[in-house]
Amino acid sequence: MRSEISVEHSRVNVNRHEVAAFLKTVAQVTGSDRVHAGEEDRQAYSDQMGFDLARHEPSGAVAPRSVEELREVVLAANVHKVPLWPISRGKNFGYGGAAPVQAGAVVVDLSGLRRIHEIDEKRGVCVVEPGVGFYDLYDELTRRGHPLWLSVPGNAWGSVAGNALERGKGPQPYGDHGAQICGLEVMLPDGSLVRTGTGAMEGSATWHLSRDTYGPAWDQMFCQSNFGIVTRLGLWLMPAPEATLSVDYALPDASDLARGVDALYPLRQRGLIDHDPAWVSYVGIASFVGPRAQWYEGEGLLPEDVGASIRSQLGIGWWNSQLNFYGPEKVIRAKFEVVAEALAAQLGQRPEPRLWRQGDDFGASHAGIPSTRDMAMIDWYGGRGGHLGFSPILPADGARAQAQFESTRARFEAAGIDYYGAFSVGARAIININEILYDRDNAQMARAVPQLMDTLIADAAKEGYGEYRTHIDAMDTVAATQNYGVDASGVGAMGRLNGVLKDALDPHGILAPGKQGIWPARYRS
Ligand code: ADP
Repeated sequence: MRSEISVEHSRVNVNRHEVAAFLKTVAQVTGSDRVHAGEEDRQAYSDQMGFDLARHEPSGAVAPRSVEELREVVLAANVHKVPLWPISRGKNFGYGGAAPVQAGAVVVDLSGLRRIHEIDEKRGVCVVEPGVGFYDLYDELTRRGHPLWLSVPGNAWGSVAGNALERGKGPQPYGDHGAQICGLEVMLPDGSLVRTGTGAMEGSATWHLSRDTYGPAWDQMFCQSNFGIVTRLGLWLMPAPEATLSVDYALPDASDLARGVDALYPLRQRGLIDHDPAWVSYVGIASFVGPRAQWYEGEGLLPEDVGASIRSQLGIGWWNSQLNFYGPEKVIRAKFEVVAEALAAQLGQRPEPRLWRQGDDFGASHAGIPSTRDMAMIDWYGGRGGHLGFSPILPADGARAQAQFESTRARFEAAGIDYYGAFSVGARAIININEILYDRDNAQMARAVPQLMDTLIADAAKEGYGEYRTHIDAMDTVAATQNYGVDASGVGAMGRLNGVLKDALDPHGILAPGKQGIWPARYRS
């Protein structure tokens, strides 16, 4: 065992004697079978897609089975000043997986808290513990005959709670997962429990039904933060629609993104399209079909003619989007008509829609059916693959989206990486998720990818674009772009507010130091 773990991210070294004493205390509470601190365990909870696993390697993991056990873990961490990193299922791939920002922190694996507390079919709500996966919830809804439909991320291996807390996205109507949260139970860093919203009242009848409450509303305070450990989460789900209508659009050229965006966002804003449709570049779609070697065995960037041949073989465009309509058949046919007419005028296409009705094969419904298909992208280059998400938020504006795409693509290509991006078009803004695909064993990529990420973050900041989410490696870098109201020490107003809250709630600085660039007092110098 190393004596002390020290990497550039660790503002304070993690003391191995304290960690050992902490793990011993925890084992007395949970049993030693819930303490995982061997070499293999540390690897298992590291960022499996990182180039250098040691950079974010935890000291180990503990896996409490109940809120009571979790409280003992948190109290012991305060005694020993051991940093914790809570995860729900730890499948946060592209952003760090299960791994902590700070090497040496102890992962708190909540996958054993796996109860679905409630499914309110009438009001469209589920209440889950952190360990409940999308597959678990889907199985339960299937057992009940799909009265409610899920919204799922592209890779749905992870948890409902962890994904919503990170403001994960899905292509369904309830696809802004963070925005569907209603009512949390949270363990604060001192081990006390708080219930948000109307849950503040003992025996509340509306905890997961209303975001209106008396006084400040704190659900979002625990999203992408290190202010508490969520032990129960209420999430709104979509009532099953009577029918769906689905249609695919494909734009032939890279330069078509601007008109694609300008065509969609007004329709989204007016409620004619009821989800955020994405324009996905062709490499993204090809990467779900097979590794790059299927089309091209050479080195370097994918040549233009190979790109064209991939598009023609797969029958797709440079940019591709699927629009789905959900509801009574009469309503969605009428909405589709208006949308199809507008898009025929702007995109010069009128593709045929596909109708699904209740009673048809559920697989064709465009419900959120969990899948891990998107994981296939890590095989694009072969070898031990990985992906890294660069995800700025842009205004819903075609020209700006086109410019951002072109600058991002140029940066990807200069780094020797095939461009893959998706522009999720909302009513007012776009979430632009770019996936940097790589082979972890490729030395050139190991050098180029971290630099590419830093460059992209800096480029975006110059345009006034911040990230919606980022990898554990880039959390400080992105936090530094929040520079409104910067003081003499170089910290922005938001960083100072976060610091004040962090210190008040977590005086010993035990909870997820460095998450989202928020460091407790003893780490700040
Ligand atoms: P999933 O397995 O659903 O993809 P993770 O468990 O990897 O998600 O969680 C993603 C991130 O969200 C974690 O790294 C952690 O920072 C945060 N997180 C997850 N679960 C919780 C929780 N219960 N309380 C507080 N933060 C959490």
